[in-house]
Amino acid sequence: TEDSFKQIKAVDDKVKAFLTLTEEDAIARAEKLDNEPFENRGSLFGLPIGIKDNIITKGTKTTCASKMLEDFVPVYDATVVEKVNQAGLISVGKLNMDEFAMGSTTERSAFQTTHNPWGLDRVPGGSSGGSAAAVAAGEVLFSLGTDTGGSVRQPAAFCGIVGMKPTYGRVSRYGLVAFASSLDQIGPLTRTVEDNALLLGAIAGIDHRDSSSSPNQVPDFKAGLTGDIKGLRIGVPKEYMGEGVSPEVKASVEAALTVLESLGATRDEVSLPHSHYASPTYYAIATAEASSNLARFDGIRYGYHPKGAKNLEEIYLRARAEGFGTEVKKRILYGTYALSADHHEDLYVKAMKVRTLIARDFNSVFENYDVIVGPTSATTAYEIGGVVRDPLTLYTNDILTVSVNFAGIPAISIPCGFSDEGLPIGLQIIGKHFDEATLYRVAHAFE
Ligand code: GLN
Repeated sequence: TEDSFKQIKAVDDKVKAFLTLTEEDAIARAEKLDNEPFENRGSLFGLPIGIKDNIITKGTKTTCASKMLEDFVPVYDATVVEKVNQAGLISVGKLNMDEFAMGSTTERSAFQTTHNPWGLDRVPGGSSGGSAAAVAAGEVLFSLGTDTGGSVRQPAAFCGIVGMKPTYGRVSRYGLVAFASSLDQIGPLTRTVEDNALLLGAIAGIDHRDSSSSPNQVPDFKAGLTGDIKGLRIGVPKEYMGEGVSPEVKASVEAALTVLESLGATRDEVSLPHSHYASPTYYAIATAEASSNLARFDGIRYGYHPKGAKNLEEIYLRARAEGFGTEVKKRILYGTYALSADHHEDLYVKAMKVRTLIARDFNSVFENYDVIVGPTSATTAYEIGGVVRDPLTLYTNDILTVSVNFAGIPAISIPCGFSDEGLPIGLQIIGKHFDEATLYRVAHAFE
């Protein structure tokens, strides 16, 4: 824990991964655990972890990187935070993100831009950019992020680390500030596949406080890291290796596939024919859900309260106008429109139908294949201040990640090489419902 703070002090003024540090509490907790008998300490005793700032932490500010929650101190812990504590991990602080997890670069934070440790002029990806950068910079060994449409996997790819989006329902969402509830999942970010498997094992499982959490058995993920992938059937979607993907990324993914083949796997080209519709469908569904979830930020029950407001209406209007950033407002507007009486049939309902088609694409590939492999992102990390002005580029890049959230299936991103500029490239391995164990086994064999 002390080493973790040493490293944070050495690099975080450049990386800017953390929004809040809890040094005193962390040291006190570590010392207390030191004096506990071995069997009470937990399986990951003493290891430092950082938590994305949309996961609520009792007594520690939880801002969602928004002015709206700048001073919000929760009175209870999210289930994953309780579980992290039970495992003996030491939380060292809260990590930067795009405001309310809306974005792909962490530039949408209301407070600071996080820098990619592999190139400080680059974004770390997003929205869990702080979570990925902190692990890549050696500030913590573990972090928790959230993935609604790629926000664990894409930053993991940009920062050269391992990031898992578990099956929807594998990890409790109790205490996660909701963005799009039917897509959100909390996931672990780590340097190695084994660490990732250990952390998922610690946070997974049914929780009576989240009715969408699953009673399925949580396997011993670490025990499954046998190195053996003989006979594994890999499908490579042609839609994931198409025109928009940079040649360097394509070459790295190809090389990774060759390695997997040399370990005894077989591969075929497959098709996910509705991929093309993933991005517009995502922005209809995710914004619709967000517009409803973010209605609770009214200036009264939570967070930002405008000074000098004269009546209720003015409180509502000013709290939301002053408390939310531009991207959040844009999405609330779009989502409200998509749900409006005149348009919900042609936007929201249609998007839900396309979502089903996209999920079925995966099901039919999984009839004949064990995993689907492709790139996590079409490019390496963008320059800070660059691509963010071109929303279409960002929205198009989501195609590779958001479909997985529609289907509720698990997917992991692992490092598979570097570009000529020395920026990391991520390999995405997608699996069947509740089959994270196979993803870890393949990732570990490759690593
Ligand atoms: N980039 C996507 C978005 O902006 C995904 C975000 C996420 O997974 N939280 O919504």
